[in-house]
Amino acid sequence: MHMTNNIQQRAMWTLAVAAMVLLTGCAQPATTEQTASQQPEAQQQEATQGVSAQDVAQNAKDKDSSPTDESKQGKDDGASSDKQEESKKEGPTTDELRAELNITEMFYDELAHGEKPADCQKYIVMHDTEGGGTGENVVNYWLSDGRFVSAHFVVGKDGSIVQCVPLDKIGHHAGFGNTGHNEEFGVEDESRDDKRGTVPLGGDLADYGMNSYSIGIEMIHEGETEEDYPEEQLQAVDKLIAYIDAYYGHESKIIDHKTWRLYNSDCSKEFDKYMENYQKTRTHDGSQLDG
Ligand SMILES: [Zn+2]
Repeated sequence: MHMTNNIQQRAMWTLAVAAMVLLTGCAQPATTEQTASQQPEAQQQEATQGVSAQDVAQNAKDKDSSPTDESKQGKDDGASSDKQEESKKEGPTTDELRAELNITEMFYDELAHGEKPADCQKYIVMHDTEGGGTGENVVNYWLSDGRFVSAHFVVGKDGSIVQCVPLDKIGHHAGFGNTGHNEEFGVEDESRDDKRGTVPLGGDLADYGMNSYSIGIEMIHEGETEEDYPEEQLQAVDKLIAYIDAYYGHESKIIDHKTWRLYNSDCSKEFDKYMENYQKTRTHDGSQLDG
């Protein structure tokens, strides 16, 4: 019968999808990344204008928190270059791209919050530190304030980079996004993130899926008081993104934090003009990377 057939078909389809998800782990429905990352700037500004004391408090907690019991840290990301070389047969290898960067590793168990296999990598989330100092200062602050916030990389004004979370671990940098953004961005609040220390914000900031599907990059910059990013810093970001692309063997979608959480102040207006170039050419000024 028609109805029976429909039910059977539906049941078969459900089973097939369930099997796919089981097999692939991070299998996700097709995402609407395009729409998500192309939030009109006006909408973001509009959202920012309603800033209340609560928003300010949320901004202060911008970097979400969590201690962790991860214990397997310190593994050099360059170690897994085999699979990268397969996908990057032409041009520099992942190791070579990493070697071009001035990276200091400051890995701490407390700053890694769960496993992030390569097939779960979808986004690079850009942040401003909203403060000065060095990458070392920032990581030491994250460690000392007890919330164990962490972006994978902190890029200094001089182009030096501190890495405090390996690429195959989850960092706590994006936190809660606007309700509905999990679905809009095609991410999921799943069990890989230990979420220790994370305090739900609730209300219209209920979705927590981005950290499990992203790499976080902080730039030392104060959006309110500084006009632009030094060229050395932007060139370092260019090469860092090239390295991340090579490491995963695919280009991640680049967004700034305020695209995920509309009230956020970081990644200032000055950065908006770079975003389009990054998406198109993976450089801040649209020129080709000369490697
Ligand atoms: Zn941020």
